[in-house]
Amino acid sequence: MFSESRERFRQQRRRWQQSNRLIRFLSSIRFRLTAIFVIILSATLVFFSLLLYQVFTRNHIREFDAALYNYTVDVSNSIQVNFFGDLRFRPYVPFDEKKAFPFGLGQAFFQVTDMNGVPIARSGNLGMAILSVNREEIAKLLRDEVIFDSIPSATLPPTADREAKYYRAIKFLVKLSNGTNTILFVAVPMTLFEKESKGLIGFLWIFVPILIFGATLGGWFFAGSALKPIKLINASARRISAMNLSTRLPVPETDDEISHLSQTLNELLGRIERAFTSQERFIADVSHEMKTPLAIMRGEFDFVKKRTHDEELRHFVESADQEIAHLSQLVENLLVLARVDAGVSALNPAKVRLDEVILESVVRAEVVAKRSGSRLSVNMKENTSSDASQQFVLEGDAGLLQVLVKNLIENAIKFSNAGEPVEVELEDRDEEIVLRVRDRGKGIPEEEQQKIFERFYRVESVKNETRGSGLGLHLVERIADIHGGSIMVDSQLNVGTNFEVTLPKTYLLASA
Ligand code: ADP
Repeated sequence: MFSESRERFRQQRRRWQQSNRLIRFLSSIRFRLTAIFVIILSATLVFFSLLLYQVFTRNHIREFDAALYNYTVDVSNSIQVNFFGDLRFRPYVPFDEKKAFPFGLGQAFFQVTDMNGVPIARSGNLGMAILSVNREEIAKLLRDEVIFDSIPSATLPPTADREAKYYRAIKFLVKLSNGTNTILFVAVPMTLFEKESKGLIGFLWIFVPILIFGATLGGWFFAGSALKPIKLINASARRISAMNLSTRLPVPETDDEISHLSQTLNELLGRIERAFTSQERFIADVSHEMKTPLAIMRGEFDFVKKRTHDEELRHFVESADQEIAHLSQLVENLLVLARVDAGVSALNPAKVRLDEVILESVVRAEVVAKRSGSRLSVNMKENTSSDASQQFVLEGDAGLLQVLVKNLIENAIKFSNAGEPVEVELEDRDEEIVLRVRDRGKGIPEEEQQKIFERFYRVESVKNETRGSGLGLHLVERIADIHGGSIMVDSQLNVGTNFEVTLPKTYLLASA
């Protein structure tokens, strides 16, 4: 039951991811540019193909009709009336070598009728069929007009050329030598014309899709190469953060809109960097300026504490001293924050032995641990497969790593229950070093576990119980981050907390 619903969920997620990918593809500029280009090109090609076909048909019909007319005039000239009034004509007549007709005469139909449409003479292949003429046409013919018409060959006698779909017919008024008017019909198959227009249609059906296909590929390729610099700019912009604000975006050498955009963004980055640097410098300067007077004040309070026998005054001085100590810690943290914010360039990268840093911090923290009744234990897990001299060595800023370790250990002592152990564990792995600081204490509510890394964030329930600024864990996360590492927290309320920091052995020297 459970695995079934999980499978359904997986399928749904896969479908959602696929449709998401499809939507992203369809809304990409590359796809849209190519699609618009192909649609416009296809519409233009189809329009011009139709136009070409129209012009071709009209011209060919005109030529065809002109040839048919000339031929009909020749035939009409051959019509003779004999002594008995019988009519004769030579349909396949004036066969002139120089005249090539766009139609075959083998299966042509001929017919001469009187002005009522009653046949007088006709070609034998017509059989009993009659090519009809209506009143309107007769009226037109009497006005000396020539009538052209296309007749489906299926309506003609079976002797018609079945290869042709249509016959072109001409109706022509002929005045006989005896003065009577007759109508001459000539109908010829349009085989050649139809073949040519079929050839043109076939050519267009092949040529237009090939052109559209080629244009799609070309458009896709050109849109891709035109957008490539944007992809590069996007990838570099993604890598820029407050840590490496001095990085600039690549500027293509093309001097086009994209290179202008890149230049503008670089100028913007420059302005942001300057604003950032001046803010960091301001924090660093103020903190630095505050450090000395605070140290002097602490010394003076110490002096008063030692000399005075007045209990009330001693109590007052002790409380003021605690406040100053808190303020000094805050100033110290602000100075570190300013350094971390300044990015990799403000660090002092070197090979650092993290086991030594841990031991130093533990020794220093021992005093506080004793005072609060916690027990500190250290466990170094060596990596048997790596060189002993390289155990626990990583590229880093020793000062910052000290702050990282100190903050984690001090927090563990601060929030652990009296008498409970605080375990510090360092593990050397091939490529990274893992630091774990475990305590058995208050724990952190689940909903606040990600917020504790924010600047000045302190857990609501312990705000009034302990002193602190809420900067410690933020610094730990930032220091881990600047070293290419990460931090994880695993905590249970009233059971304890485990912080795990993973730091790559080689990172800082390469990115500095
Ligand atoms: P603070 O100066 O208050 O210690 P931090 O940034 O170091 O600031 O810690 C933020 C908050 O996270 C603390 O106020 C505390 O509530 C909680 N926290 C940090 N470490 C622990 C821990 N080991 N056990 C329980 N709570 C902790």
